[in-house]
Amino acid sequence: MKPKHPAVRNVSDCAAVESWLVSAGRDRRPGSPLNVPLYPASNYRLGASRSYSRDDATPGWEALEEIIGGLEGGSSLSFASGMAGIAAIFDRLRTGSVVALPDDCYQGVVQLAKMGQERGRWTVHRIAVTDTAGWVRMCASADLIWLESPSNPLLTVADLDKICAAPRKPGAILAVDNTFATPLNQRPLDLGADVAVQSLTKFIGGHSDLLGGVVTVRDADLLAGLRQARELSGATPGTLEMFLAVRGVRTLALRLERAQRNAMTLAERLARHPKVALTRYPGLASHPTHEAARRQLKGFGTIISFDVRGDARAADAVCAGLELIQHATSLGAVESTIERRARNAGQEHLPATLLRLSVGIEAVEDLWADLDRALRNVPDA
Ligand code: PLP
Repeated sequence: MKPKHPAVRNVSDCAAVESWLVSAGRDRRPGSPLNVPLYPASNYRLGASRSYSRDDATPGWEALEEIIGGLEGGSSLSFASGMAGIAAIFDRLRTGSVVALPDDCYQGVVQLAKMGQERGRWTVHRIAVTDTAGWVRMCASADLIWLESPSNPLLTVADLDKICAAPRKPGAILAVDNTFATPLNQRPLDLGADVAVQSLTKFIGGHSDLLGGVVTVRDADLLAGLRQARELSGATPGTLEMFLAVRGVRTLALRLERAQRNAMTLAERLARHPKVALTRYPGLASHPTHEAARRQLKGFGTIISFDVRGDARAADAVCAGLELIQHATSLGAVESTIERRARNAGQEHLPATLLRLSVGIEAVEDLWADLDRALRNVPDA
């Protein structure tokens, strides 16, 4: 007899990804709870597949990994943070390897790459995000090709179509940090990347209440190697964090849709604001990589970087003057956050007046009123 309500088992069974987000990762046995409960367990009675929580996935991780695996189109492994997943990928490199890194990307990855270079583990080559020919050349010689698109914080879009399709040195890994795009806007594995990375801390979690990461691959050996790295480095995620990440990802599509709409409106208005010198948002026709963004991304994302007229003090005054928008680092949450990125060590190459705004799901007119007031209150330079 056919079940009355057939459970959704594959992302391809769904007419739209929203249904997968809501239905995947659930235990379908009769009597089981709809949501995977918290498992505060380090140790299991021996004799079955689970024995110790650092070695064997706990049920909350498996749910999250099933959901993200479906979204990215591969097999996922969850980690204690985005950086823990990224470090596991870098850890694959043999001494003497060559790493290709974008000239604009998350500062934690830049620091990790620099640290490895200083210790003689590998050599780092920085390539402009838009230098597609340079990336194609690096694909033939580098052991790790690291891409982040759109980039943090300049929001430059790389030509992933071309770069992922370029011939690679045998054994090389091409990884794309897909955090800013989210797997709803971009699927790097479909383009030919070996690895897609997400900081769960951002859009997937979506509520500024967890740290987590996830790495998705198609190659079985790479998956096994990364699983072993997670186990041996102890970069395993916590049960509460994965519970929250699963809860957060259920609404990803709704949150993203609303926040992207808000971001487009705010970017257009910021671009015309007398106190703003430059607005970077991939959805604006004036953005240097707008065409690549239109070609490659389903949506333009929720991050806007803009330069306040004047100096660093003027930009700090805007942050201090905001009431609704939170003055905080990180991004991708329901609440809008803003930060002057050059205040962080290692970000001195950025314009001192650059503010990175992560647009949330508040009412857009309230967000605009807050921004406009804070900008207008800054004394003229
Ligand atoms: N990738 C990007 C693009 C990020 O912005 C961040 C953090 O801000 C990370 C990776 C690192 O993630 P986590 O903070 O979860 O370690």
